[in-house]
Amino acid sequence: MFMTKIVLKNLFTKYATRLYPFQKKEPFQHSKGELKILMEKCILCGVCQMRCPSQCIKVDKQAKTWKVDPFACVYCGVCVDICPVKCLYQESQYRAPLPEKDTVLHVQQPKEAAEPAAT
Ligand code: SF4
Ligand code: SF4
Repeated sequence: MFMTKIVLKNLFTKYATRLYPFQKKEPFQHSKGELKILMEKCILCGVCQMRCPSQCIKVDKQAKTWKVDPFACVYCGVCVDICPVKCLYQESQYRAPLPEKDTVLHVQQPKEAAEPAAT
């Protein structure tokens, strides 16, 4: 009887937690969320890779790629602070959950391909 009372009470009361990811909390001011890059500004120096405490960034100067493992990132913001050209930034929202682990790969496009051809 005691148990039934609790079950019925829980069925008809509001949830104590949010139904994440359907309901998201507004981020706090200056919160450090998902890491993003402006690849056209990146000079592929590799400093972010060297300083990342969780070793989740891989920079390949030859292949002109910048890769991050978002599942290993701890949102510390060290890479954002030390990037010499300020091409890294963090959004205020956290990364959306995914059913499988994945990495985020950016390939730098050649300058002539990125700019519209002059006529
Ligand atoms: S520190 Fe900045 S410029 Fe250097 S590889 Fe990382 S993102 Fe690119
Ligand atoms: S925010 Fe921190 S953990 Fe994430 S990639 Fe940058 S340095 Fe690495």
